[in-house]
Amino acid sequence: MAVKLKKCMMLCCYSNPETEDMAKGSSYEDAIAGLKKLLSEKGDLEGVAAAKIKQLTAELEATAANKFNPVQRIEAGFAHFKKEKYEKYPELFGELSKGQSPKFMVFACSDSRVCPSHVLDFQPGEAFMVRNIANMTKHSGVGAAIEYAVLHLKVENIVVIGHSLCGGIKGLMSIPEDGSTASEFIENWVKICMSAKNKVKAEFDSLDFAEQCKNCEKEAVNVSLGNLLTYPFVREGALKKTLSLKGGHYDFVHGVFELWNFDCGITSV
Ligand SMILES: [Zn+2]
Repeated sequence: MAVKLKKCMMLCCYSNPETEDMAKGSSYEDAIAGLKKLLSEKGDLEGVAAAKIKQLTAELEATAANKFNPVQRIEAGFAHFKKEKYEKYPELFGELSKGQSPKFMVFACSDSRVCPSHVLDFQPGEAFMVRNIANMTKHSGVGAAIEYAVLHLKVENIVVIGHSLCGGIKGLMSIPEDGSTASEFIENWVKICMSAKNKVKAEFDSLDFAEQCKNCEKEAVNVSLGNLLTYPFVREGALKKTLSLKGGHYDFVHGVFELWNFDCGITSV
């Protein structure tokens, strides 16, 4: 009976033409409506079957109430952006349809809590952005983005932003002395900043692990800034002073953003 009921539920879900709207997130609602319709039309259903359908309906209703729907979330997000930004600033988006000339290139971590557009209020067209694990600046995909930003978009600033409680940096700090790795990609990626780890281990050995990680979050930014100078067009821009390199650290636990010029002292903003 359970199998039959499951099949019945699936049919309610998939055979209703309206459920072609599944992509619009109505699958739960349709399944519930289908079950209710079945109950009302099939008055001759056995007591057990009817009770089971009622139970399934209740379970589905409870699930639907709590269920995260990614499609609905994306649709709602875009609708909000379109109403509040796109339609409110037609001149800006008209300009952006012709091209982009951002002043910033930004490297930030992929971490979902540190989006620079939110933290620094960057608007569309303001920042050409690369996000990866622990905001690192080496390897081919990154190089292509830097080349495009510097040579074609002629950005004036490259900002590398680290952040508090960075999982990538924690991973880097956790790599054993023998250099062995447990992950397929992550550790080999964060090893780009191994020299930051070595420096922190040498200078802050007496600190606890969390404090060491915090120091490494900032030190890795400096290593990434140094790595930027290995790209000839970055070096040239820095020498000619057409390009400024800046480090940043966003502490989302305390709501603090630090910004420093590469080679200069740290200043809070
Ligand atoms: Zn991170």
